[in-house]
Amino acid sequence: MAESCDICGREGPVDLFSSGCAPITYAGCPECRVRGAEELGVAGLWYLLEGGGAAAEALLSRLTVWEEGAYVGADRVRAYVERNRDRLLAELNATYELIDLPEEPGGEGKI
Ligand SMILES: [Zn+2]
Repeated sequence: MAESCDICGREGPVDLFSSGCAPITYAGCPECRVRGAEELGVAGLWYLLEGGGAAAEALLSRLTVWEEGAYVGADRVRAYVERNRDRLLAELNATYELIDLPEEPGGEGKI
C-alpha cells in the first residue's frame, strides 16, 4: 500500500524514523531517511525555540529539509522562521482542549 512521506509528501513505501531535532517520529520515504531530512515546519519550530546557541547553529548547519520540491539546507530554515515567526509564536500560545471521543463505534462526536 502506497503512503505519502511526512517530509516530502511523495507517495511510496515509508518507514518510521526519528527526527534529529524534535521528539517526533516520521513515516518517511527511503530518500528522506537516508538524507536525515526534516519536515520544514518541525525544523523551523525547533530553530525558533532553540536557535542562536553554538550547538543549535552547528546542528542547523547540518540539517536537510524539503521545500517546494527540493532538499535544501540551513538558509531555508532561517528564511522559513523569519517568514512565519508570528504564526509559529501564536501556535505556541494556542490553547488546546481534548474532548473525549465516543466510546461506541460510529457514535457522534466532535474533536
Ligand atoms: Zn520523503
